[in-house]
This record gives sequence, structure tokens and C-alpha cells, in this order.
Amino acid sequence: MATGQIVIHEEYCKGCGYCEVFCPQGCIVITGEKVSPEGFLLPAFNHQKKCKGCGVCSQMCPEFAIEVYQIKADKERKKKTRRSKRG
Ligand code: SF4
Ligand code: SF4
Repeated sequence: MATGQIVIHEEYCKGCGYCEVFCPQGCIVITGEKVSPEGFLLPAFNHQKKCKGCGVCSQMCPEFAIEVYQIKADKERKKKTRRSKRG
């Protein structure tokens, strides 16, 4: 079974909360503790072990602020794939 890892580029985030709402695993939370210089509430990837690398958070983010890496659970050759709408 695949697992996932995400990178949130906080400089692009506008704090809309879509990533938190739509993550089917509940991995992303906006606690109110992290705030951008512009005053946006920033999400945190707090439940990393639950992430499946499904990419929903990245697809829902209107600011293209999230990169998703899917890690294949193949012991022989761990394959890391990158999903991103940026570059
Ligand atoms: S890749 Fe899927 S499981 Fe992982 S944080 Fe994003 S929406 Fe949640
Ligand atoms: S969906 Fe994108 S812009 Fe909205 S809170 Fe999440 S990372 Fe920020």
C-alpha cells in the first residue's frame, strides 16, 4: 500500500482551508497557531502516518501550494513519485 508525503508552500497559501476539509485521511489541520505574514491561517501536515498520497489536497488547493509525493511500499525498490501543479 502506498503512503504519502506532502509539502505545503506556505508562501502561496491563502488559508482557505480546502486542504483540511477535503483530505480524506484528516492529515491536514489549521490550528490557528501558524499565521502567514499576510495574516492567513496556515495549515499543518499533522498526521503524516495517515497520508496515502492520494493528491486530493493538491487538486483542491486553489493556490497550487501543495506538492504530493507518493511512496510505493515496494521493499525492493522504493519509488518516489512527485505530483505537483507547479513547475
Ligand atoms: S495526499 Fe491525500 S491523504 Fe495525503 S494529505 Fe493530501 S489529501 Fe490527505
Ligand atoms: S487549500 Fe491551499 S491555499 Fe487553501 S489552506 Fe490549503 S494550502 Fe492554503
